[in-house]
Amino acid sequence: MKLTIGHLYPDLLNLYGDRGNIQCMMKRCQWRGIDAETIEFTLEDSIDFSSLDIVLLGGGSDREQMLVCHKLRSIRQDFRDYVEDNGVVIAVCGGYQLLGHYYDTEEGRIEGLSLVDLHTEQGSPRLIDNIVLENSLFPHPIVGFENHGGRTYIGDNKPFGKVLYGHGNNGEDGQEGVLYKNVVGTYLHGPLLPKNPHICDYLLSNALQRKYGVNGLEPLDDTQELEANQYIYKRFVK
Ligand code: GLN
Repeated sequence: MKLTIGHLYPDLLNLYGDRGNIQCMMKRCQWRGIDAETIEFTLEDSIDFSSLDIVLLGGGSDREQMLVCHKLRSIRQDFRDYVEDNGVVIAVCGGYQLLGHYYDTEEGRIEGLSLVDLHTEQGSPRLIDNIVLENSLFPHPIVGFENHGGRTYIGDNKPFGKVLYGHGNNGEDGQEGVLYKNVVGTYLHGPLLPKNPHICDYLLSNALQRKYGVNGLEPLDDTQELEANQYIYKRFVK
């Protein structure tokens, strides 16, 4: 079995070590004897979504998002077909905002991909803090760090988690991120997956299920990863 990860525009969207998420996915495949490959795409490259099993869209500053958004609009149809065909996507922070219809900033509107029915508006102050979420889909809390000016509104979509500590999508409704088909959008970076191995495995198992019809993953010894996760949980929630 083999999984191919597409890292979109890491030269522009790579705030706060989003690449750590790629390393985590690669390692957790390799430890299980699953082949894994990452292809990095720059703005000049064309993308064959049919060859990808997981797509990572990282975080970026407003300026970088503006640069990327034109390119994203040009690949929108292929990206949308991939998502509707249950392609796995992990979109973090700036990348998460770009999944939606638009991100309104003081400098103007950044058009999004409209892959998920959500939108973002810039607000003040920036929402910066550690963050802890829970979601009964997952066996452990989700921990991370958030730093965003945007306030995201997901309408009737399901959130990635309920906020136990921190601000979340907009600091108002107690929700963080979005789950749509096999897409995860979230403000958590720092990076997200090493401290949340259950989220990494959720992405990997969805990708393997889609490609090979395989259910379940061989368990790994996550003692250290879960210690880090529990440390943050206990520090901020209990
Ligand atoms: N530029 C966006 C905001 O400030 C996203 C920032 C990020 O990716 N950390 O809301």
